Amino acid sequence: MKLFKAISNRFSRLLAKRPQIPDSLWFACLAQLPFLQGLSREEIFRLKKMSEAFLSKVPIRGAADFELSNQAAVLIAAQASYVVLNLTLDLYDDVPAIIVYPSGFMVARKEVDSSGIVHEWNEPLAGEAIQQGGAIVLSWEDVENSMHGYDGRNVVIHEFAHKIDMKRSIANGYPPFLTAFHQSIKPVEWQRAFSEAFEDFAERVEAQDNHYHTDWDAGGSSHVAWIGPLPLDPYGATNAAEFFAVCSESFFLRPAPLAAAYPHIYSLLSRYYRRDPLERRSYHH
Ligand SMILES: [Zn+2]
Repeated sequence: MKLFKAISNRFSRLLAKRPQIPDSLWFACLAQLPFLQGLSREEIFRLKKMSEAFLSKVPIRGAADFELSNQAAVLIAAQASYVVLNLTLDLYDDVPAIIVYPSGFMVARKEVDSSGIVHEWNEPLAGEAIQQGGAIVLSWEDVENSMHGYDGRNVVIHEFAHKIDMKRSIANGYPPFLTAFHQSIKPVEWQRAFSEAFEDFAERVEAQDNHYHTDWDAGGSSHVAWIGPLPLDPYGATNAAEFFAVCSESFFLRPAPLAAAYPHIYSLLSRYYRRDPLERRSYHH
């Protein structure tokens, strides 16, 4: 609750009842989201309608004196809606609000380790999807810096992928399968493929860490195989939930390395999000 005391009263929400995004504002926003360029006119039209519905459903508020502009609100709505463009906004039913800080924010963490020692620290974050039923918190600076998505990262897509994941229970990389859309996905296939890919990726990240920490002078490099660039943000090796969120970011923004390294994950995400970003096409059934 502490968090909410910091929320400024100023918040930008387009017209309360049936928000309509003016065309000039809409196209100014699209110009800042290059990964949407491959969408068809019909998809852009649907994305606009969905973004309008999103804005009427989820309040977006500035915190710590951040004055949220209409443009910032539309940019967040468009990116969040893009993730579920071929699914349904119902996946965001439990998002009560989006809180936007001007830049990275500190979150107090507390953890008890296996020997019972309590560790407390402050962690700087770019975004956080708090928990099932909780708000999404974003740093505007990080939203702006990741809007282009060229490096396969995008903080809005990342946090909303977590929200989808949490829709079933906790974030664990096992999102809900909807009867209307996901009949072709077998839960056991999903769980097996994701846990295998996660293990493989965690090994790659560890191998890379070891590689860079090898003492070259001691000749320690001789046993290290050549290590190529990682196909995903190494943050994905944190746990199964982060792996799903990071794979989702790559899937939408930089799909080729993901498809090359983990074709089964690419295929499952294509069937999940009902989109084929490599071919720049949607699934319409
Ligand atoms: Zn995350």
